[in-house]
Amino acid sequence: MAVKNFVPPRRLLLGPGPSMLHPRVLRALSTPLLGHLDPAFLAIMDEIQTLLRFVFQTENRFTIAVSGTGSAGMEASIVNIVEPGDAVIVGVNGVFGTRWASIVERCGGKAIRVEAPWGQIVEPDAIRQALRQSGPVKAVAVVQAETSTGVWQPLEPISHLCREHDTLFLVDAVTSLGGAPVDVDRWNIDVCYSATQKCLSCPPGLSPFTLSDRALAAIKARRTSCQSWYLDMALIADYWAEGTRAYHHTAPISMLYALREALRLVEEEGLPARFVRHQRNSEALIAGLTELGLPPLPPIGHRLPTLTCVTIPSHIPESEIRASLLSTYGIEIGGGLGPLKGKVWRIGLMGESSTEAHVLTLLNALETLFILGGWLSTPGIALQAASRVYSRRV
Ligand SMILES: *Cc1c(COP(=O)(O)O)cnc(C)c1O
Repeated sequence: MAVKNFVPPRRLLLGPGPSMLHPRVLRALSTPLLGHLDPAFLAIMDEIQTLLRFVFQTENRFTIAVSGTGSAGMEASIVNIVEPGDAVIVGVNGVFGTRWASIVERCGGKAIRVEAPWGQIVEPDAIRQALRQSGPVKAVAVVQAETSTGVWQPLEPISHLCREHDTLFLVDAVTSLGGAPVDVDRWNIDVCYSATQKCLSCPPGLSPFTLSDRALAAIKARRTSCQSWYLDMALIADYWAEGTRAYHHTAPISMLYALREALRLVEEEGLPARFVRHQRNSEALIAGLTELGLPPLPPIGHRLPTLTCVTIPSHIPESEIRASLLSTYGIEIGGGLGPLKGKVWRIGLMGESSTEAHVLTLLNALETLFILGGWLSTPGIALQAASRVYSRRV
C-alpha cells in the first residue's frame, strides 16, 4: 500500500492551542541534528535557559524545558514536591485545576480542593480559610490562566498568603507565559510551568519549567524518592547543569531548536509590547463577539487576554457553526469542556495567532454564518465594534 504525500489543509489556528507558528520557528525545526551531548548543542541549551529566565522573569538557576507537553510540567510540579501523605491546596475552577488535584491524589498526596464556579476566579479569601483550617500544607497550587473557562486568576494575594504560611506556591502558567505577565520572582512563585504550543507559538512537546531555591530545598529534603523516574528533576538537573551534563534521557533536539527561535522572537518583540498586543486583540474580539450576542463567560477584570471564552445562546447550533468555520473558512476555534460542552466557544489569540487580521477574519466569518442562519440582520456590526477598539490610540 502506497501511503500518499500528506498536504495538510490550510488552517487558521484560533483554538485553545496549538497556536500559529512563525516561519522562523518552522525553519528552526529543520535544522540538522546535533548529538544532545555535543558541546555545540550544550551551548544552545544555555541560551534557552537564559531566554526562559527572561520570559518567566526569574533569576532561578533551575529553569529548563521539560520533555513533554504542558501536562508533563504539571505532573513534574507534583511528583517532585509532593510525598505520600502531603497535603496540597488546589484551586479548582475548571478542567486544569481538576486535573492537578487528581495528580496530587495519584501521588499519594491529599488534595484540598478550594472550588469556585467555572467562569469565576478562586477567591483568595477561600484559600486563606483553607490554609487556616488545614494542618500543615506542603503547597498551594493555582492555575493562572484557566483555558477551559478563560478566567485570569490574580496571583499576588495568594502569593502573600503562601509566604505568611510558609508553604510552596505552584502556578500553572500554560496559557499565560509569553502572552500575559508571569512574574515568577516578584510573586515568589516556587514552581511554575508552561507549554510551548500556546502563547510561545511553538509546536507542542516541551514544557518550560522553573524551580525556586525554596522548591529545590524541599526536593532535597524529601524522605522518599520522586514517584517518577522520567520527571525526577533531581536527576534531570545533572543534564542541564553546567559542569555535570550527565545523560538522563535523550533531549528532544529539534523541539529545543524551535523553542530557542520562538523565545528569540519573544525577546525581539519585548514582553510589554507583547502583552499590549494580546490585550488589544482580545478587547477587539470581545467587542465584536458582544455585538453577535456572545458575551464572555468570566466577569470584567478576570478575562484572559490570551483565551476568550464566550457563552452561546441556546438557539445557535454551536457545533455546526464551529464545523462550518473549519470546513468553509479553515478557522479552528475550541468548544467547551466538561460541564461547558455545547455551551461555550473558546477562542485563543495566543502568540502568532494574536493579530488584528486574525480577529477581523474570524469576526467576518462569524457574521456571514450568523446572517446565513438568520441570527443577525445588521452586517458589519461586529467588525465595526472591533475596528472602534483598533482606532483607539494605544
Ligand atoms: C493546555 C493546558 C495544559 C496541558 O497542556 P498539554 O500541552 O495539553 O499537556 C495544562 N494547563 C493548562 C492551563 C492548559 O491550558
